Amino acid sequence: MKSKILNTLFHYKVNFIDSSQTLIVVALIVFVAYQQININNQQQFSKEIDSNLTNLTERTDELEELISLIQEQNMNIQEVMQSDREIIENLERQFDRVNDNVDELEKITRTDPELLRKYSKVYFLNEHYTPSDLETIPRKYTYNPDREYEIEEKVYPFLMDLLEEAEDDDIDLQIISAYRSFDEQEQLKGAYTVSYGVGANQFSADQGYSEHQLGTTVDFTNSEVGATFSGFAQTETYEWLQDNAHRFGFTLSYPENNQYYQFEPWHWRFVGKDLADDLHDDNKNFYDLSQREINEYIAGLFD
Ligand SMILES: [Zn+2]
Repeated sequence: MKSKILNTLFHYKVNFIDSSQTLIVVALIVFVAYQQININNQQQFSKEIDSNLTNLTERTDELEELISLIQEQNMNIQEVMQSDREIIENLERQFDRVNDNVDELEKITRTDPELLRKYSKVYFLNEHYTPSDLETIPRKYTYNPDREYEIEEKVYPFLMDLLEEAEDDDIDLQIISAYRSFDEQEQLKGAYTVSYGVGANQFSADQGYSEHQLGTTVDFTNSEVGATFSGFAQTETYEWLQDNAHRFGFTLSYPENNQYYQFEPWHWRFVGKDLADDLHDDNKNFYDLSQREINEYIAGLFD
């Protein structure tokens, strides 16, 4: 009885062991198969990754090439743009220069060359010459309030500035002569000829008569010396003119000790600020310069 039981138990044990083994084997098989599948999958996956990576690398290379090509083209475009810009700037500069030259030429052609002409005993202004426009000088600035004194219209504002500044500086300054027509010159010359004889006929009546006929020239005086002009060179008025008249474009035509003409401290001609400044700075007079040098100032005469 005991052995039967033992047999049965043994039988169960064997069966139990068989079943366990089978399970383990099956599990192993399943595990191995699973692993295999996993490995296969992983291999497949990594192959795909490899191929994708290769593709990506190729694409990246292509893109890099493309980028450097674009960058190169961009550089070329920038270079072209830069050189275009330079060409345009250059053209603009040339255009400005041409424009300036045209402006200057226009100013020169509009400006009467007689206004800066040197006159002499042999070369004087045509008797038919008259200024284009004249302006009347206010009577408070003139020596003889019963007479009308006129000045070339474009010179007028410069003369007014001078007279107003002299007034501000308390300088006794009056206009005793300005524009004179050819007929008036003739009468004046006649009067001198009567007084001084034939010698006066040359130039001594008023060596600057052409300048007065131009309308750009004035004779100054003050209440002290009046119409005699005697001692005008020793007055405070003359000193002020020497220091300041050039700033308003006026220059003394016949200074003391000049090589050509008698000293006329009262006779001032408008030659423009640039020329008057240069003459003042260089301590020269208008008749020291050549006509060619003087003509350089025509364009800026009324600047
Ligand atoms: Zn004069």
